[in-house]
Amino acid sequence: MHIGIAGVGLVGRVLALNLLQKGHTLTLFDVDKAYGDTAAGMTAAGMLALFAELESAESSIFNAGKRSIELWPSLLGQLDISDACQLKGSIITAHPQDLTELDHFIGTLKSKVEEASSIEVLGKEEISALEPDLYQHSKAFYIPHEGQVDAQRFMKVSSDYLLNHSNVTWHEEKKVDKVSSGSIMFEGKREVYDWVFDTRGLGANDEIENLRGVRGEVIWLDAPEVNISRPTRMLHPRYKIYIVPRPNNRTS
Ligand SMILES: Cc1cc2nc3c(=O)[nH]c(=O)nc-3n(C[C@H](O)[C@H](O)[C@H](O)COP(=O)(O)OP(=O)(O)OC[C@H]3O[C@@H](n4cnc5c(N)ncnc54)[C@H](O)[C@@H]3O)c2cc1C
Repeated sequence: MHIGIAGVGLVGRVLALNLLQKGHTLTLFDVDKAYGDTAAGMTAAGMLALFAELESAESSIFNAGKRSIELWPSLLGQLDISDACQLKGSIITAHPQDLTELDHFIGTLKSKVEEASSIEVLGKEEISALEPDLYQHSKAFYIPHEGQVDAQRFMKVSSDYLLNHSNVTWHEEKKVDKVSSGSIMFEGKREVYDWVFDTRGLGANDEIENLRGVRGEVIWLDAPEVNISRPTRMLHPRYKIYIVPRPNNRTS
């Protein structure tokens, strides 16, 4: 089929890669350049944190997250960057004054999904063995089934892949005005496809009611003296703080 995709951010790219595997021909539209940075996917910390979000999310989000973690390795393999994903679990800890809250948080997870029974409590020694640089913490939990994707690398390499693919036409800097069944409107023109997908993220705000974005800020740090190898969450009563390791001693 000839398929039109409006919005080539994180979801548009995942979709495009899957459709190409099935042999379809694609026309992509994005208001930004292929290597631009307006997509949320360019900012994302890339945590595959299905448990960490469960406290405030529905179980359907948890189930989608589980499926997503299974799919990332083969998707990254298609781009030849299998090392852009690590699935060696994550850590959640807290300052001493917030430890009761941490126990409560884990209790909530365990009451919500059966899989949370695999979350392990860590004492000082176990923490030091798993992540030596967290030695100052006396208590933490290890969540085995979480991980992270290098979202920025995925975005960069998928741009190269899609731009060079013979079954892909990518219209850069084209604002889509409307997506409806079988057609995409842009610059006063209407293009017809066998199928169309609207993956404009928040860009579809005018057409889709109650669409809301993920709120957050990412700070990049050069931290040559810190070695944390897994995504680590600091439970805090007011903020969600995550440390996400990056190549070359960077962290976000
Ligand atoms: C600070 C921050 C941290 C995050 N951390 C994580 C995390 O750790 N783990 C996680 O799972 N998620 C995280 N997210 C969420 C994740 O980034 C988003 O869920 C994901 O990027 C959504 O993908 P998307 O394709 O829907 O939107 P986007 O990635 O924003 O892509 C939308 C695309 O549509 C294009 N577009 C918009 N309007 C139009 C138009 N009218 N015409 C043509 N093109 C258009 C945009 O240019 C863009 O390229 C984070 C988000 C933020 C902001």
